[in-house]
Amino acid sequence: MRRNPLLFLLVLSFAGLVHAEDDTALQQRLADKLKLSDPALKPRKVTGGEAGTHKAKPKAPKVAPKAVTWAYAGDGSPQHWAEIAPENRACGVGTRQSPIDIRDTIKVDLEKINFDYRPSGFAVLDNGKTIQVNMASGNSLQVMGRSFDLQSFHFHRPSEERVAGRQYEMVMHLVHKDPDGHVAMVAVLIERGPDNKPQAAVQQVWNNLPLERGAPQQASGQLDPLQLLPTERGYFTFMGSLTTPPCTEDVLWMVMKQPVQLTSAQIAIFARLYPMNARPIQAGSGRMIKESN
Ligand SMILES: [Zn+2]
Repeated sequence: MRRNPLLFLLVLSFAGLVHAEDDTALQQRLADKLKLSDPALKPRKVTGGEAGTHKAKPKAPKVAPKAVTWAYAGDGSPQHWAEIAPENRACGVGTRQSPIDIRDTIKVDLEKINFDYRPSGFAVLDNGKTIQVNMASGNSLQVMGRSFDLQSFHFHRPSEERVAGRQYEMVMHLVHKDPDGHVAMVAVLIERGPDNKPQAAVQQVWNNLPLERGAPQQASGQLDPLQLLPTERGYFTFMGSLTTPPCTEDVLWMVMKQPVQLTSAQIAIFARLYPMNARPIQAGSGRMIKESN
């Protein structure tokens, strides 16, 4: 009976008669031809090699993968947020993501949001993604029997939320948390208004823009967050997420129906720093959107 020469080689190599330990090419051939499943016979991993390579290549120096940070364009753009870090999974697979185009609402008598705001100390931070204003404690809102403390607010351009398809010049997001860490977000849409009526509270923020990124600049004086709100307090409400990684869901959104106005000069100041920092619209996925009558 004729022996398969490859099998014979295999036996030899097992017996240590052939010094094949480092001969990955031989092992590769054996494995390929015999489709052996014994891991000891599988070719060693060749750094940088393609599958099916028959030549052992010299080991390439290991290069650490380039760290990608999230952004609004380029390698870190919104369609890649979920891939950048495991904790960003919701950005890709969540079904209650924000922002959304607000439409097909259910009009009801929504309770008034109680804004328990007062003039407070504040610090302005350029965090590399937006201008954020950190508020001193003592401001809160109450809605649906729950109380949330105002932590900070920040800006997006153009607006992230849309109303029946309409996108606004900008939007302001006021971030609130309850003692358990639940987030309630108030969005104030911003449109272009007359040049002779600058928005006073936003102007205070711009006046205190820090010269360097990454370090909060404590402002002198106090800012009254009530001045950031429109006079009419009707709103849309729905469940959504943070609009930046990690896109955490279970965020209670309240979007004020009436926009506030900034002058062209005020909008231009933000546009110069952040011309585009809005996440694209996410699927509504049939979620309920209620609207004040
Ligand atoms: Zn935001």
